[in-house]
Amino acid sequence: MIKILIQLTLFIGYCSSSSFSQNYWQQEVNYTIEVTLDDVNHKLFGNESFEYINNSPSTLNELRIHLWPNAYKNGETALGQQQYKDGNDDLKFANDSLTGWIDSLNFSVNGAKVNWRFDSTHSDICIIELKTPLLPGDRITVATPFVVKIPSGEISRLGHIEQSYQITQWYPKPAVFDATGWHDMPYLNQGEFYSEFGSFDVSITLPKNYAIAATGDLQSDEEFQFRKNIEKLTREKIDNNNYSRKSRGGGGITPESSAEFKTVRFTQDKVHDFAWFADKRYEILSGEIELPYSKRKVTSWAFFTPKNMNLWKDAIEYINDGTNFYSLWNGDYPYNSVTAVDGTISAGGGMEYPTITVIGNSSSEMELETVIVHEIGHNWFYGILGSNERNHGWMDEGINTLNEVRYIQTKYPNNTNLSQIFNGGFLHFNGLSHFDTGDFFYRTLSGLGLEQAIETPSEDFTSTNYSVIMYQKTGLVFNYLRRYLGDEKFDSCMQNYFETWKFKHPQPEDMRKTLESCSGKKLDWLFKDLIRTCNHVDFKLKKVKKIDETNYTVKIKNVGQVDSPISIHGLIGDSIVSTTWIEPGLKTNKIQLQSVSRLDGISISADKSIPEINRQNNHWKSKGLFKRFEKPKFEFLIGDNESRRSNMFWTPIIGGNFHDKFMIGGAFHNFGLPINKFQYLIAPMYSFGRNFISGITELSYTTLPKDNIRLSKIGVSIKSFKDDSIRDRNESFYFIASPYWYAKLGKRAKLSKPFENSIRVQTMYRANVFGHNTTQYAGGFIEHVSNYVKPNHKVNTKIRTDFASNLDNGQKFGRSSLEATYKFRYLRKNQKRWISLRGFVGGYWYNKFNINSNPNYMMSFAGMNGAQDLFVEDYFFGRNITSGIWSQQRYENMGGFSSASNFGATNQWMATGNLYFQIPIKPNMFGVFIDFGTVQLGTKNYGLFNTGLALKLGDVFGVYFPIYMNDVLENSFGSKKYSERIRFSLKLNLMTRDFKFRDLF
Ligand SMILES: [Zn+2]
Repeated sequence: MIKILIQLTLFIGYCSSSSFSQNYWQQEVNYTIEVTLDDVNHKLFGNESFEYINNSPSTLNELRIHLWPNAYKNGETALGQQQYKDGNDDLKFANDSLTGWIDSLNFSVNGAKVNWRFDSTHSDICIIELKTPLLPGDRITVATPFVVKIPSGEISRLGHIEQSYQITQWYPKPAVFDATGWHDMPYLNQGEFYSEFGSFDVSITLPKNYAIAATGDLQSDEEFQFRKNIEKLTREKIDNNNYSRKSRGGGGITPESSAEFKTVRFTQDKVHDFAWFADKRYEILSGEIELPYSKRKVTSWAFFTPKNMNLWKDAIEYINDGTNFYSLWNGDYPYNSVTAVDGTISAGGGMEYPTITVIGNSSSEMELETVIVHEIGHNWFYGILGSNERNHGWMDEGINTLNEVRYIQTKYPNNTNLSQIFNGGFLHFNGLSHFDTGDFFYRTLSGLGLEQAIETPSEDFTSTNYSVIMYQKTGLVFNYLRRYLGDEKFDSCMQNYFETWKFKHPQPEDMRKTLESCSGKKLDWLFKDLIRTCNHVDFKLKKVKKIDETNYTVKIKNVGQVDSPISIHGLIGDSIVSTTWIEPGLKTNKIQLQSVSRLDGISISADKSIPEINRQNNHWKSKGLFKRFEKPKFEFLIGDNESRRSNMFWTPIIGGNFHDKFMIGGAFHNFGLPINKFQYLIAPMYSFGRNFISGITELSYTTLPKDNIRLSKIGVSIKSFKDDSIRDRNESFYFIASPYWYAKLGKRAKLSKPFENSIRVQTMYRANVFGHNTTQYAGGFIEHVSNYVKPNHKVNTKIRTDFASNLDNGQKFGRSSLEATYKFRYLRKNQKRWISLRGFVGGYWYNKFNINSNPNYMMSFAGMNGAQDLFVEDYFFGRNITSGIWSQQRYENMGGFSSASNFGATNQWMATGNLYFQIPIKPNMFGVFIDFGTVQLGTKNYGLFNTGLALKLGDVFGVYFPIYMNDVLENSFGSKKYSERIRFSLKLNLMTRDFKFRDLF
């Protein structure tokens, strides 16, 4: 336990009067529910009645009701479709043991039966038609019986794993009606909540030996005693270090249910949901917290399964500390109990419900504490401040992350949580804290042009953005505000927000008004730029002039896209000794900085309080020749790009190919994370085939424009390797330099759409050198690639124009092609088997290259595997060789035939189709290929056909065994030896083109 010093007083009276709108109103719903658990058939039999109070100025003719158990009915529900879209077939092909539903509904209003109907689109929403319109200020009582078939806990959050029950989002519940109308929404895994406040009185009947945890205050003395008896046994086991996996009540993992039943009652006011959890194995611990301001006492409870006892033995400490810190920073916890339950259900790391949270599997005590504190924290940001999570998820998840990170950083200032994620500081990702988790992933994602704005509706987020942006970036942005205002002011403003909006539905504008009037600051930069756009922050320390030992003039340039506050830190060694904040909108040409002592350095945001995308331009040091350059740091292989350091990574490399033979050398690069705008890779290798240096160099500069381009990159790629095939001489090699521009097109907000496209414009200078002779080429290509990716359908198109000129003899060519691939997943139920159909059409519209010289469009690439790679975009072990095993490597472009024929190289035109069919046997690596096409050679057209079997390991490696070729192919193929007809593919440049975030982790 840590000692908490209360340094803060409430500033609510001090802050300017609240911005709370006089016109604000909200509906009220007060529930009474009686429910019985049938743990043989996994069903709930219930009777519900709720009082609905219309506080709105509108007359209501209908009520819209959520029936969320119906989300589990089949694959057609919004949840089923969402999961299917994410590649999860569970609901789509679910049998009865997996699905769930709610039925036996029979609604009455004030005792009289009413008409009701399901929503036309969503079966988990229904509409009750009111016979008598509900006038403003009036109330009605709605009642219905209901039966819930509890789905499998494998699907989402309502469910059971055998006889362990997680009963959430389970009863008929009116949707929110607010100033913008009804907010009925189907149940989804992402962006769950927006609910009306009211009271709950819930009586649950179930076999006597279940322990039950639920929202609110336990009203049954007997059950309280039952809990205390279990707790006594749990404490004994912990005290005796006896973390037995055996459950109470017998040797079995899950004891038999008692024949006798009990009814347990819970009540709670001022909440907007009710959840309960029942398990016969639960161990129980309890504790007590005294709240920091009111000194009121709150009871804390932990329920967990015996197998997690070792991990959960200090859970009460986490619950208490979480409740205490959140109260201290935001305002006292308003309820009497706070509970955390060890969940048996797989969905998600944890889930919040009022006064009770369910926690998923954790791998360490630190992880468990973090999740418990986060979920407990949702009592404030979701439970008490009931914002609309589906539209403004950041208002609970993001603000909650801010508090969660502050909690860990306060309680464990020296934690290395992020480094632990990187396998305990894997390579050089060391010394990274819980705060760095958000800082690192946000800046990495943003730097890759993959960022969406914080204010994005939950269903439009990609899953990466949902966690990295909505949770983490929001946390960073509000940490920025906290550092700028200072803890005292920030906390008083958050407490003002809490007091003003507790038990209500604050919208983003309400939060902004409260924070602005309390802080006295204009917060456009936060609420307009950082929340609503992907505009990024980047300040550059341009110049520091030392006037005397303690006086400096600093010049800062805003090279980012947001006019936000700037912190300037004076440093002695690595310690911050002074902090100066520059207000937004001020001129940053001549900032006077005064320090009490001589400084070693001056830095923008040395404490990382500003979520800057680039921190390599923030520093000045008083000593040394290059005052604005960071100290270089050399590290093996890879690591994080630290601010105040120029990280260079190195690794010895060995390589080899047919021509260079064995190569040995080193790679030097700055491909750390978050990525640098300027990136380099220099990889020289000594080639024993060439007796000289071969290798590659890549330089690039990335920008993130504001508008319709997600990412823009200019760069140059330089390669030189030996190539004996240029001429049959030993001293032949090629050298190629390719400057390029590459851009990912499209608005960042549309990232979750299945459509993406990119453009690449590349030029090339190539020299083929043999002895004293050199043939030089110049050329380039323009390529537009688009992808449409759905879990079961993928379409890829590539439009490309190549042109090149032989600078020595003036021969030129120009050609264009269209390639399209359609992939369809034909076998379902979590078995992925694909049919792929590819088409290629290519033609030369200008050609003065000799017909026998490269490059041609080629049908298949037997023995000429480098010829179709004029621009050296890929790697071959035996570039251009015509015999031996390395000549049998095929390259999947152009005609795309899998056969081994030399036939079909043209500088006129060709059209081909390639069908590939994954055979539905295990393991998933066998397929059938069928290639067909036509090619023009001179004045004749040839039809080509071949088929065979393939063995493929993903996209990386494949072997192709021909079975049948038509006569033209057969006759053109010289060797009759079957082994020489086999082709293989090996794709080694998976990383060189589109750098993918997921390739890293
Ligand atoms: Zn959360």
